[in-house]
Amino acid sequence: MKYIFVTGGVVSSLGKGLTAASLGTLLEARRLRVVLQKFDPYLNVDPGTMSPFQHGEVYVLNDGAETDLDLGHYERFTNCLLTRNNNLTSGQVYESVILKERRGDYLGKTVQVIPHVTDMIKDRIRQVSDESKYDVVITEIGGTTGDIEGLPFLEAIRQFILEVGPENVLNMHVTLVPYIKAAHELKTKPTQQSVAKLREIGLQPQVLICRTEKPLDQDVRRKLSMFCSVSEKAVIEEGDVEHTIYEVPLTLHAEGLDQLVCDLLHLETPAPELADWRKFVERVISPRRRIEVAVVGKYMEVRDAYKSIYESLTHAAASEDCGIDLKLVDAESLERGDDAQLRDVAGVLIPGGFGLRGAEGKIHAAGYAREHKIPYLGLCLGMQVATIEFARNVCGIENANSTEFDKNTPEPVISLLEEQRGVRNKGASMRLGTWPTKVVQGTLAEKIYGGTEVTERHRHRYEFNMKYRDGMNAQGFVISGTSPDGTLAELIELRDHPYFVGCQYHPEFQSKPNKPHPLFKGFIQACLARQTSRATPVRVDQESPHRALQRELVPQ
Ligand code: GLN
Repeated sequence: MKYIFVTGGVVSSLGKGLTAASLGTLLEARRLRVVLQKFDPYLNVDPGTMSPFQHGEVYVLNDGAETDLDLGHYERFTNCLLTRNNNLTSGQVYESVILKERRGDYLGKTVQVIPHVTDMIKDRIRQVSDESKYDVVITEIGGTTGDIEGLPFLEAIRQFILEVGPENVLNMHVTLVPYIKAAHELKTKPTQQSVAKLREIGLQPQVLICRTEKPLDQDVRRKLSMFCSVSEKAVIEEGDVEHTIYEVPLTLHAEGLDQLVCDLLHLETPAPELADWRKFVERVISPRRRIEVAVVGKYMEVRDAYKSIYESLTHAAASEDCGIDLKLVDAESLERGDDAQLRDVAGVLIPGGFGLRGAEGKIHAAGYAREHKIPYLGLCLGMQVATIEFARNVCGIENANSTEFDKNTPEPVISLLEEQRGVRNKGASMRLGTWPTKVVQGTLAEKIYGGTEVTERHRHRYEFNMKYRDGMNAQGFVISGTSPDGTLAELIELRDHPYFVGCQYHPEFQSKPNKPHPLFKGFIQACLARQTSRATPVRVDQESPHRALQRELVPQ
């Protein structure tokens, strides 16, 4: 078993997660079995309660773990399927150490960061190191070298190297090499200092991944090599990608990273097979046609808040040789009647969400898509608002609402199961992780999925109230998928609409570059069909090809 630790230097937001994931792509392309893991030094037990403003989207795993969005990169860039063991926070470490202490497991000893906290961290690395399943474990340490919270993790790595032998471990440091305009120069000092900080803790990186705006010339490479004690060919340049994050593995491959890593870890592998990946990237960069899709949500200015959704759209669109122009619509602006934003789009997507803010705007958007026969994809809350809209405006249930938005609504078409059963003590917790769905035969959903049994990831509390099922069905609202026992609605669609689909779950967590999710693929196909039928000419950009390419991509 080989171990790669990825640390970050100088500043945050260098795309360490993407770099780790991309290394995973490259090693898998060399037929190695790879698993990734993230250690987050913050004290939250999990990111489930953090605001998307703060931390981007919460990524949900099969087992229901609510994790950092980097785990989304890991699953999208590699074939590994992660569990809660693959995301460890300081909060979890301290929680379990303290619980052990209270149980008396430490037998009267003084409980300390070294060895008790560091032991716990090392255990977690071992927990994912299953030799029968993997050849390489890539562990990313969140935060930046020098953060107080990160110290126990780095110390644990130092001890771990001692235990498994340095020949089995590689430390990769992702760092910033800033360009100072006034001096026309790339500066190596921040990296030197960051590496010095690592060495102080007893860690020597063998590979430097240099995030930079300008190419590293030979001089800079030599300097970094000399001051940081890293061989010159292990100074790897990682510039900003021009078009899409999916270029990162290709950039790193061009710099020789995968060969270098295999050499350093004494891994013999065939040359990497990157043809499919390249093809996908080409389709993302220069699609034959493009469509505009409106995403109506609450966190439009935070690009990371709906990360997996934007990625899923990219995957599905690429599979149709199509580019996406995203129209990010703030739901609250629709409450002020600004409908023009939805007028010319090829499709409307409403993501998941929590709370009242923007809810009426989303309900309005769902109604607009229904009435104008615009393809609609509602994810989780997006399904719930579509349900409320249909109940109100088609079925005449004027006060229809979710008890999430109005606790005392007389018409709770969406509510907590406990409320539906008349239980007063709510005690509701979220339905999380993978649950099976039985797709109803003869529905659009069956056609899209090409089958009747699917499993999808959930993260929600509220449910469709089955009391309304028959009445709404009579008006054209179809429950096209349920839990296997038939009690929970999982999928909805409208009979008289080309593509109006809502799901109670989050398909965006299972889409991959060369495996787009059927609901997204169906959505894009419907958007394309609408565009063609309305004979909207494909825009021919008069600008330079470079700018034209950039604009048609989903923002990353
Ligand atoms: N707030 C809704 C619920 O809890 C939807 C959640 C979501 O979209 N993830 O059921």
